[in-house]
Amino acid sequence: MTPSDQDVERRHPELANLLGAAREAVLLAAAACRRAQAQIENVRATTKDDRSPVTVADFAAQAVVAVSLAETLGPAFIEAGLVAEEDPSFLRAAERRAYLEAVVEVARSVRPELTAERLLAALEVAGAARIEAARGFFTLDPIDGTKGFLRGQQYAVALAYVEGASPLVGALACPNLARDLAAEVDRPDPEGSLYFAMRGAGAQESSCVEGGGTVRPVSRANTLARPIRVTASVEKAHSSVSDTDRVISAVGADPMVVRLDSSAKYAVVARGQADAYLRLPTRADYVERIWDHAAGVVVAEEAGVRVTDILGRPLDFGHGRGLEQNRGVVVAHPEAHPRLVAAIAELGIK
Ligand code: AMP
Ligand code: MG
Repeated sequence: MTPSDQDVERRHPELANLLGAAREAVLLAAAACRRAQAQIENVRATTKDDRSPVTVADFAAQAVVAVSLAETLGPAFIEAGLVAEEDPSFLRAAERRAYLEAVVEVARSVRPELTAERLLAALEVAGAARIEAARGFFTLDPIDGTKGFLRGQQYAVALAYVEGASPLVGALACPNLARDLAAEVDRPDPEGSLYFAMRGAGAQESSCVEGGGTVRPVSRANTLARPIRVTASVEKAHSSVSDTDRVISAVGADPMVVRLDSSAKYAVVARGQADAYLRLPTRADYVERIWDHAAGVVVAEEAGVRVTDILGRPLDFGHGRGLEQNRGVVVAHPEAHPRLVAAIAELGIK
């Protein structure tokens, strides 16, 4: 069941504990991803068989998150479980030993004591919980924005805790996204930024390195004093470019779209570098994955940003691994949001 606002407020100490654990876990995974990205040619060389180098880093980041959450939260994590993109049974096959070793090597860059057995056990325990049975669960995209990761541009480690239809806690590590809003969005930053939020308690930002630097609140409470600036995917297959252009002209938005990979787009709207993130369907049958949105939704909403699907309905995380009840996503400053949803309806986009 989705807890009420009052329930959530009463449970803030418990949720703050989950948020602390989630922050720590994504920071560690982000460090592992950075190492893998810096040595992508090595990783590629060890995995030239059947799967891409990115999947090695994906598995490593997923394992690091599972190990970290299990250590910090113990039984509370095991009960909740982790619904994540990669299927650990792939790593168990005897003929994939070399592949498994490549994953372990990346994970060891941040957890030198990890063995293959420990890594497999952590993934297995984490993945055991069934979505339907759990009171709440964590959901993770270990490397969101795979294409950005490979290009050396933006990607994210996105972790959220979900109950009923809603994510309650979100931690979004953007290892290459500069905190400085004047910096170019596509120039990889050595420190990156980390966004985190808990329902009813606001959103915050730190840098994406251990220690984190200063923590700042993130808010879009100010009025919108310029034409709407839109952010969208780099990948044309993930969001319709032509429909985005039609919406932009219908509402008189800035025609320069800020293009970047991953759910870092939620952060970019939350911190005011863009005013709207449009994800307009390219296919009639595509169902958005929960881990591509859960963490970003809490961060954006807690910063005062509105998030719905293209029909103006709230995103419903209560239907397994997909947002089965929704179409596309509109993330926008509260003054821009109704204008965008109305324009999408008038243009007949669905
Ligand atoms: P982005 O970096 O915003 O372009 O989104 C990356 C995510 O897009 C991946 O994690 C995929 O889960 C997701 N994805 C894959 N195919 C599609 C599609 N046809 N429409 C929307 N999203 C997709
Ligand atoms: Mg993803």
